[in-house]
Amino acid sequence: MNNENRATKKVVIDPGHGGSDSGAVGNNKLEKDYTLLISKYMYDRFRDLGIPVAITREEDVTLSPTDRTNSILSKFGDSKDVIVISNHINSGGRDA
Ligand SMILES: [Zn+2]
Repeated sequence: MNNENRATKKVVIDPGHGGSDSGAVGNNKLEKDYTLLISKYMYDRFRDLGIPVAITREEDVTLSPTDRTNSILSKFGDSKDVIVISNHINSGGRDA
């Protein structure tokens, strides 16, 4: 992707889970907390690079599937120039 194309793209970052939905749980760690940390880091990096970016949640709040979809669509609309990154972390098994 050349710089000209990159400038037209917009990014929506979606931290998986949140609020009453913890996602995967292991060793007293909750997936929702790590997806938020990772997503905030990504948000800052995209912003620093001058790429239009938005995030679906900035705090530990519950988003229903409908809320999440509406939040994504409200950022930059429904366009092929919008890239959505939904972050999840699997708990994995011992053999995974
Ligand atoms: Zn998940």
